[in-house]
Amino acid sequence: MARTEQERWDTALHEAAHAVAYLVGGIGVLRVTIRGWGNQHMQINGKVVRARVCPEQAPEYIVALLAGSLGPMLGGLELDHPDADGGWSDRDKAYDIITWTNLGMSQQDRVNLMFTYYHQAAELLAKHRAWVLRVALALMANTTLSGKDVVALRPADI
Ligand SMILES: [Zn+2]
Repeated sequence: MARTEQERWDTALHEAAHAVAYLVGGIGVLRVTIRGWGNQHMQINGKVVRARVCPEQAPEYIVALLAGSLGPMLGGLELDHPDADGGWSDRDKAYDIITWTNLGMSQQDRVNLMFTYYHQAAELLAKHRAWVLRVALALMANTTLSGKDVVALRPADI
């Protein structure tokens, strides 16, 4: 199934948000792409290939995971639009890391922590909105960018 331009744009914003959030969090990005495939049962689009994440970077990693699903909102995504490009698995992964790194914490506290990380991801994207949009536009034009490309797209004033 061919992807529509809207799906490509949502994916570009999703992956651009991940990439910018990784870099802001000090996690190296090797490559980001919106190359993907899809069928009736699943749509897998895009990917950020990142450098190794140290355990101490778990909070930054969680924020970057959650930033992906928030990214499409920068492009005016309707909130009930299905996030077909990994938003759910990103969230599950983030929740898993919160669980592993906070053994013994109650479920309510883990959920509260998840909200805190969502807030951080939203603040990060609000601050770096111009950068994310530039990366997303470049992904639409080129499909794949290197981490260096993403760094080079950072506006000079932030
Ligand atoms: Zn994602």
